[in-house]
Amino acid sequence: MPHLNLDTISRYLEIPPEARKLLERPERTTTVNLNFHAADGSLVIGQAHVVYYNTCRGPAKGGIRFSSGVTLTETCLLAELMVWKTALTGIPFGGGKSGICIDPHSLSRQEKISAVKEFVHVMRDDLQNGRYVPAPDMGTGESDMAVIFGETHLSESVTGKPVRIGGLPGRREATGRGVATSIRLAAEQLLGSKPDGLTVAIQGFGNVGSWTAHFAQQTGMRVIAVSDLSTGLYDPNGLPIADLMAWQNQGKLLKDFVGLSAISNADLLTLDADILVPAACEDQITPEIAEKLSAKVVIEAANAPTTDQADAVLTARKIPLVPDILANSGGVIASYVEWHKAKSGSLTDVKETYATIDQLICRTFESVRRVSSQHGVSLRLASSILAVDEVVGAMEARGWI
Ligand code: NAD
Repeated sequence: MPHLNLDTISRYLEIPPEARKLLERPERTTTVNLNFHAADGSLVIGQAHVVYYNTCRGPAKGGIRFSSGVTLTETCLLAELMVWKTALTGIPFGGGKSGICIDPHSLSRQEKISAVKEFVHVMRDDLQNGRYVPAPDMGTGESDMAVIFGETHLSESVTGKPVRIGGLPGRREATGRGVATSIRLAAEQLLGSKPDGLTVAIQGFGNVGSWTAHFAQQTGMRVIAVSDLSTGLYDPNGLPIADLMAWQNQGKLLKDFVGLSAISNADLLTLDADILVPAACEDQITPEIAEKLSAKVVIEAANAPTTDQADAVLTARKIPLVPDILANSGGVIASYVEWHKAKSGSLTDVKETYATIDQLICRTFESVRRVSSQHGVSLRLASSILAVDEVVGAMEARGWI
């Protein structure tokens, strides 16, 4: 079953039956063994899933998640989200995703390199012919993308690389940059308020959450709570985000940071803050949380952090929500710029990266608001209508339907 509710969308948009059939299932799913040797010489047989959900609009684009909890169902969901995200923002990519079902914390650096090299080995044809273009996701980062580049020797075969080997200045923080831009737009256009002084609570202090906090603070917002898996930290006067990022960059957990009050992840989600940003993982805002949520607006930085039932509760409570396929699209926007630059050999700077992200998110936000008020529907449904329209149009143009 697709994540998007095509029945609801078809009340506002004609979806031809052939298109529906194609959108209801992934184009291709692959499950492979990843065999490599651990430091003690023993053989590790890991598993990886690679999903191309729909590549009508371009090569399958989507990150590699590295976690023991990865499943094929989750990889399909994340690949599908990439279809809608790239379509909504007008990036000429299709939707894909990979999941490596191994706990990255159980591996040494050398073992992780071996696992990533093995991933390239089994996916080599698709990576080299440009059919699949990976990027970082939970559990992977720029050093893993550097390993992929080292194996393919093709700069455009992977995005999210370190800047010194063809990565894009600003790519590391791109998703958080886009989330912060979405927060600013939501503050101005949905709450009718300047960002200055608004309070923000962020669940998840990894790549996306920490950079969101950084940029939100830069625009004058007060980040009063953040969390990782170990704990949440709270200060109503605003947290020392730079210190927390430096702490986390040393590989340390928030629970070991001294001098701040702790807050549980559940309490963080219902905290009295103007803006709530789930930036950890799927299914964090449940119907129970949605009933108790105090924020005036929710900005989905993580992929699919709100369950369908919780989404209905928020809609009924008239709490606006900026959906993942819009709010966290900064990463794929920057990835597109990186891919494009790799193909052309040209250079760019961080200012240009930020400007591209801001411009595309502002433009998309405007279109989503227009469709939302035209049909009297939520921002999530408006985003889905626009995205599906794009993909169906592309399928017609290519003669798929
Ligand atoms: P990450 O691994 O860098 O960070 C995840 C953070 O969330 C960590 O602080 C972790 O401790 C915390 N966390 C995980 N599970 C949690 C839980 N159950 N409760 C509380 N905290 C929890 O990952 P990331 O790259 O920041 O990705 C976060 C989310 O954003 C994911 O949904 C990912 O798919 C999505 N996303 C990431 C990017 C990107 O560029 N990295 C782009 C788009 C979307």
